[in-house]
This record gives sequence, structure tokens and C-alpha cells, in this order.
Amino acid sequence: MKGPLLQASGLSKRFPPETDPVVDLLNLEVVDGEIFALLGPSGCGKTTTLRMIAGLERADRGTLSLAGVTVAAPGLHVPPERRDIGLVFQDYALFPHLSVLDNVLFGLHGRPATEARNRARQTLDMVQLGESGDRSPADLSGGEQQRVALARALAPAPKVLLLDEPFSNLDANLRESTREEMRTLLKHESMTAILVTHDQREALTFADRVAVMNHGRCEQVGTPEELYLSPTSAFVAKFLGETNLLQVDAQEGSAKTPLGTLRLNRQLSGSVWVSLRPEHIGITRCADGKPTGVVVAREFCGTHVRYRLDVGGLSIVAHASLNDSFATGEAVALQFSGTVAVIGDSLSNAEETP
Ligand code: ATP
Repeated sequence: MKGPLLQASGLSKRFPPETDPVVDLLNLEVVDGEIFALLGPSGCGKTTTLRMIAGLERADRGTLSLAGVTVAAPGLHVPPERRDIGLVFQDYALFPHLSVLDNVLFGLHGRPATEARNRARQTLDMVQLGESGDRSPADLSGGEQQRVALARALAPAPKVLLLDEPFSNLDANLRESTREEMRTLLKHESMTAILVTHDQREALTFADRVAVMNHGRCEQVGTPEELYLSPTSAFVAKFLGETNLLQVDAQEGSAKTPLGTLRLNRQLSGSVWVSLRPEHIGITRCADGKPTGVVVAREFCGTHVRYRLDVGGLSIVAHASLNDSFATGEAVALQFSGTVAVIGDSLSNAEETP
């Protein structure tokens, strides 16, 4: 296993006159070659964290090291230009009066001219814009402009690439394809990257690991699968997608619920809250012995149908395939097959999730 390329410990930032820190004793470890995402709602401190990593913002407390070198600590602040990082912003920040090639060359100032030109051309080839060096950024599509910004950030071969909402100015189709292309390229180059986003789908599809932030702190860190299937708080469960939060009485890792006796992902007893994803609840025509519910509402969602069900007085959401159709008022049988994630013994923070 590779070691951490970036380590943040107890990182904090407050903007006076506000008394609450926007980043609060944050700990992070990003492994060499990893694509890491900071995900969270607006105002949770993602961009401030990224700016502290870049050196654009001074940390009030804590330490930060990059490739084993301490770049921030009490009394120490290494400036951005000496941190060996690349930055890509949401608005691309290209120079409109410079050609595409000159924009990329800008990141290479100080290098011998021929070496810089070769490297700039090589990085433009990498982002498949090798033929566009003489064009003006204004003549390029949003996706192409973002690729120029990426080439400019990659050209100096930084140790880590910081991406602040880089896809949010692209329309939906272009966003997906640009994201996919950028991930392929970063993996090909074994680049370490940190993405800031408030879009859970973007974080889950782009990153190897994700830190979910809430009020300046890390709520949970894990792979997309771990976070989605085994959230450890109601906040994370709800932020990553629709879910059913149920309070159950656990007996040594299993619990009787209106959906049958379910095995929990933790071996514990007592009253706990669990998260059940709607797509793990199967709906069939009523059959003997299966727990039943009644369809209260039905919504066509394109890829699936979303049902709201009344299950013994409990409101449950299930997503079913388009093949089966159930009418409002119909009694149906339900079967759960998925991870029953224990999220704790209270619902703290759950209600403030957007
Ligand atoms: P968003 O997704 O909306 O950009 P975010 O999670 O990136 O949100 P930050 O931009 O880090 O959040 O901001 C966190 C909080 O800090 C916000 O309340 C913001 O208004 C405040 N903040 C950020 N920068 C400054 C600053 N320079 N001066 C004062 N307050 C600031």
C-alpha cells in the first residue's frame, strides 16, 4: 500500500468576526495516486479546506504536509508557488488574450523555452487538444476550455492536482463525458487529485475515496461503495442518496422490522437507527408469508419507478424496475435484499440534510 502524499492534522480556519470555525480540526490522508473528493453541502468548508491545501488561505491551527514536507504548521506557511500543486477552478480561469498554447506555457514559466514548448504540446496532446494550440480560448467549447485548464495545471507535473467544482459550468451531457475523460487521464498519469464538489453523484463516480464534510468536519471517509452502502450517520446516509431511516430493536445483529427480520451490518443489540436504500426493497404481487404494504404514491423517474408505501403505518420508499407496475392503493409484498446499515442510536444531524 502506498503512503500518504497529503496529510492534514487538526486543520482549522475561522473568519472573524464569525466565532465558529468553518474548518474545524480536520484530519485527512490522501494516498499517492489517489483521486480523493471532499463532498458536502454548500458552506461546509470544502473550498476553504482546498484553499488551505493550496496555500491560498492560512490555517489558524493544525499541520499539513505534502510528500513528506510540512507546508503548514504553527508559525509556518509555505506559499502556494512553492507547494508543487496544480489548480483547476470551476470558471477555468484561462487568459482570454493568450492562445491555448500560451495559456499552457504560462504554467511553465522559468523553464528553458524549447523544453517548455515541448512539454506544453505534450500536455495538450494528452487532453486531445494537440491541434488547437493556436486557437483562442473563446473559440472553444466549455468542455475544451476545461481541458485547456487541466493541461495548464498538469504541465508542470505537480505532486497533487486540486479541482474546485471543475465540472459545474458544463451542461449535463458534457459534464459526464468530461468527468469520465478527466478520470481516465488522471489514472493514466497516476496523478494524485483532490476534487471539491457538492454533487454526490460526481464524487461517487469520480473519486477513489470520498470525505463527507459537515460543518467543517469530516463526517465519514471511505470508498464510494462503503459510504453509500454502509453510512455511519444519518447525515451521510441522506446526503449520498434517498434512504429509509428506521428505528429498530436489534438483538445480536438482527432486527425484526416491518420488512421482515433483517441482518444488520453490525453485531449489536439495543435500539438503533438503520438506513435501507430504496432500490434494495423489492416489490412483488402479494404472496403468502411476505410482509405487505400498500402503494400510497407512484412516480415515474425514467430509470425506475419510485413508490411510497405504507408498511404497517410506516412510510417507506422503494425503487422498482420499469417492468413491474403497481397501482396506487394496491397491496404489495416486500422483500429487502441489501445492506442494513446501522447509523447510530440517534438521528442527530439527519434533519438538516438538504
Ligand atoms: P460552496 O459549495 O457553497 O462553495 P463550501 O463548502 O466550499 O461551500 P466554503 O467556501 O469553504 O464552503 O465556505 C465556508 C464558509 O466560510 C461559508 O459560510 C463562507 O461564507 C465562509 N467564508 C469563506 N471564505 C470566506 C472569507 N474569505 N471571509 C469570510 N467568510 C468566508
